[in-house]
Amino acid sequence: MDLDKVIRKVPNFPKPGILFYDITSLFADPEALSYTLKKMEELYRDTEIDGVIAIESRGFLLGAPFALQKKLPLVLARKQGKLPGDIIGKSYSLEYGEETLEIHKSDLTPGKKWLIVDDLIATGGTLEAVASMIETQGAEVAGIFSVIGLPFLKYGEKIGKYEPRTLINYENECVDSK
Ligand code: AMP
Repeated sequence: MDLDKVIRKVPNFPKPGILFYDITSLFADPEALSYTLKKMEELYRDTEIDGVIAIESRGFLLGAPFALQKKLPLVLARKQGKLPGDIIGKSYSLEYGEETLEIHKSDLTPGKKWLIVDDLIATGGTLEAVASMIETQGAEVAGIFSVIGLPFLKYGEKIGKYEPRTLINYENECVDSK
């Protein structure tokens, strides 16, 4: 399966100079989605995971089927103001702006190991923020999964210690749009 072929690239979105790797085109391809979930299962077959934290919103669509398949609890990291209960929140910068994510405190059981799932790692700021919330609550990061990695944005400096895993990496932004 050549994931590059099913990932839509949109230049200058959402801001000039950003090449947006759009995985909605991967979700629209059942074979590509099923391949992605199979790969996730293979990558984490031998990893001790107590639960999955999926990041709004594309991370939800990967974290939910994975958690269901592995019969693990699924916790949502949501954008500011969406969760009604007692939350822990963290603000951070990402490739093209600022964002705040929140998690229900009562969902983050201390001592448990969480796999964090998102669609793409750019600077690593998003995943670092979620990892920091997990640790603040006395829980642990079991790993980080994302379909796409942009290692040239040096996310390893922020989240390398959590051994992030990706299925496809892009080494620069100079990819023709499809
Ligand atoms: P970062 O925190 O910089 O690693 O940014 C990762 C988050 O922003 C992920 O949730 C991505 O969905 C989104 N993102 C950042 N850069 C891009 C990009 N070039 N293409 C698609 N999504 C992106």
